[in-house]
Amino acid sequence: MKIGVVGGGPGGMMAAIWAARSGNHEIHLFEKNEKLGKKLFITGKGRCNLCNDCEDSYFFEQVVNNSSFLYSSYYTFPPYQTMEFFESLGLHLKVERGNRVFPKSDHSSDVIKALQKELEKQGVQIHLKEEVKSLEKKKNFVLGTNRNQYELDKVILATGGITYSSTGSTGDGYVWAKHFGHKLIETRAGLVGIKTNQEKKENLMGLTLKNVELYGKTKRKTYRFFGDLLLTHYGISGPIALSMSSYINREKNPEIWVDLKPALTKEQLDQRMQREIQKQSNRSLQKIMETLLPKSLVGNFLSQWNLDHEKKANQITKEERSQIIEGLKKYPLPYKGLFQQDTGIITSGGVSVKEIDPSTMESKKVEGLYFVGEMMDVDALTGGFNLQIAFSTGHLAGVSVGSEERK
Ligand SMILES: Cc1cc2nc3c(=O)[nH]c(=O)nc-3n(C[C@H](O)[C@H](O)[C@H](O)COP(=O)(O)OP(=O)(O)OC[C@H]3O[C@@H](n4cnc5c(N)ncnc54)[C@H](O)[C@@H]3O)c2cc1C
Repeated sequence: MKIGVVGGGPGGMMAAIWAARSGNHEIHLFEKNEKLGKKLFITGKGRCNLCNDCEDSYFFEQVVNNSSFLYSSYYTFPPYQTMEFFESLGLHLKVERGNRVFPKSDHSSDVIKALQKELEKQGVQIHLKEEVKSLEKKKNFVLGTNRNQYELDKVILATGGITYSSTGSTGDGYVWAKHFGHKLIETRAGLVGIKTNQEKKENLMGLTLKNVELYGKTKRKTYRFFGDLLLTHYGISGPIALSMSSYINREKNPEIWVDLKPALTKEQLDQRMQREIQKQSNRSLQKIMETLLPKSLVGNFLSQWNLDHEKKANQITKEERSQIIEGLKKYPLPYKGLFQQDTGIITSGGVSVKEIDPSTMESKKVEGLYFVGEMMDVDALTGGFNLQIAFSTGHLAGVSVGSEERK
């Protein structure tokens, strides 16, 4: 059988390897860049967090959209098999905080090298700098590139999403999916910074608020994430803001706020403030607040509620104290949208999973057409889960396409 795989990212490479391992087929892998895995190269800040050695239930909790669609592909190729697979290719791995798995060398390039070597070993024909321009189905598939035309029995699409487009992920596969009658779910950046009216408060830029709780209230649900929040020139970023973005990226006007003291109740905060006031009765409100918040935030915090920074501690009224406590527990970050789409770590939306068979990754509309990875409407939080999706779906498509006899 002649099989074409479009896209030399993690999903496409995995699919090509397993299609080749599954039988005596002629496999062509098309990648428009001059090398394989350009996006893979920048993952995990160049270290490639390639999967997460977690419990199965935890994996599914980290998937933001359509987790149940992934049951078959995940259970056929779960994280421990991803790890075994890479170790068998000679890539040694290590597990870090939060069960995140990295290559021992800390170089994503080693992950790419391992995959490329296996592709070559399996006899996959790698077509670099060969951009797929058209895809039709007559009796067989006719795939046109900038160089040639190919007649193929089966085609796996693994062209990725739309963010970090300089890596080659420019949404090309959506066009063919639509052409073949597939429904597309509108794409949005996920794991992306959030713009808030903190913008231009230059003294706050670069400040990390540690161990805070970020809230996002939509019409349907209130989401919350605990951890570190980074204040930027446009609003908020850092792990918990990125996670939040993936849940609110379809909302018009979510209400966002942060609990600056999640470990303390309002009553405990009030007692603590009263203690500070008693200890330092002649000091300013500014100084009292510096015992509770990072110094650079205190000015903005007090101005937000028109509180007098210089007011002596022993003159602070009960109302002012209660205003401060409310503010500490619910510091508003009015939402202004998501930061630039291209900076999203992931694309949410894409080819609707309703029209893809989850047990094979084959299109329910076009026989012999398969989908893999980020181009489908599946996305997860950070921690190695998105690459696991690419590997699991790539493996399943490869095994399915390769083991089926031509009809
Ligand atoms: C900065 C950053 C850091 C990340 N870090 C992590 C991490 O540590 N862990 C994790 O799990 N996930 C991480 N991700 C997410 C992860 O990289 C993606 O989910 C994953 O790469 C998706 O794999 P894919 O194969 O589906 O698509 P892609 O990796 O996007 O690959 C698609 C490939 O298809 C090629 N292509 C597209 N159109 C054509 C065409 N017409 N013809 C030929 N080739 C074409 C592209 O050039 C590209 O190489 C990160 C993402 C970013 C942006």
